[in-house]
Amino acid sequence: MSSPADLQPEDAKAPLIAARDLHTWFELRRWGFLRVGAVRAVDGVEFALAAGEAVAFVGESGCGKSSLARTLLGLHRPTRGEVRFAGRSLGDLEGRALKAYRAEVGYVQQDPYGALPPFLDVRRILAEPLIVHGVRDRAERERRIRAALEEVRLSPAEAYLGQFPHMLSGGQQQRVVIARALILAPRLLIADEPVSMLDASVRVEILELLRRIQRERGLTLAFITHDLSTVRHYAERIFVMYAGRVVESAPVDDLLDHPQHPYTQALLAAIADPDAANATRLREVPAGEPPSLLHPPAACRFHPRCPHFMAGLCDVEDPPDFEPRRDHRSACWLHR
Ligand code: SF4
Repeated sequence: MSSPADLQPEDAKAPLIAARDLHTWFELRRWGFLRVGAVRAVDGVEFALAAGEAVAFVGESGCGKSSLARTLLGLHRPTRGEVRFAGRSLGDLEGRALKAYRAEVGYVQQDPYGALPPFLDVRRILAEPLIVHGVRDRAERERRIRAALEEVRLSPAEAYLGQFPHMLSGGQQQRVVIARALILAPRLLIADEPVSMLDASVRVEILELLRRIQRERGLTLAFITHDLSTVRHYAERIFVMYAGRVVESAPVDDLLDHPQHPYTQALLAAIADPDAANATRLREVPAGEPPSLLHPPAACRFHPRCPHFMAGLCDVEDPPDFEPRRDHRSACWLHR
């Protein structure tokens, strides 16, 4: 089996995963060859996540969150910049080291039914990653499969091993997805809108399950979500994304109680408005549509929608990251 030792950090104090100047662009071509432009899904993202930290990347639909998640998973190659995991650049990983990286990062998808192969039972679904990563002993696989089911509270495991995905409820399917993501004992778990397709009645249970497992295992957990209203309960730090960039980041309480960027302020105002309690309304506020990632606005991407827009500055120069409060960053010229 590929060993985590292949990815030991060079420096014990280094973050577990960090992105520097990260860009993931997708070329658009007409008739297969004529270049039309590039969709700038991730466009200059920087962050560093410590081991054992739970964070949330928050933003409207189409802001680049899922492209960022897929870049961190190694499913998209960065156009520019790099991702470092345990001190090593993902771009340098090949063969055995790349396989070891895939075992180190678990992924929980948005749509549990779509994520599970319909013709495999739960035992086979959970055995698959173990087989791929060289766990040849059948008894050892069975022990780990049963332990994973118990950990996600599908108990007794015996009752679920022979079930196929269509025989399970949405919440049970998502627990199987989480068990599969954990079965290789990853150090990082990426959960992309893990409850958005579930009934409201099981959302809290799944979020609490992820948080409990994160604490018990000391995992680094990155939630990808459009919903700012619940992040206080499961994230320690928030990164607010807009049009492929992180515009604000801070510890969760400081960000929610003292939002600095006009975009974050608008999102929180929408939650505070009882008429906007429905999360789908978040997509309609602040006024105007999220920008095209093919032709994003110049300079500050938020300037066409911003109530504090300063002509000749916000539409001319990119705002750098300012630190208006301790450990609280905001990319806005208001903090000059
Ligand atoms: Fe608004 Fe200007 Fe700040 Fe952008 S830089 S958020 S346009 S005030």
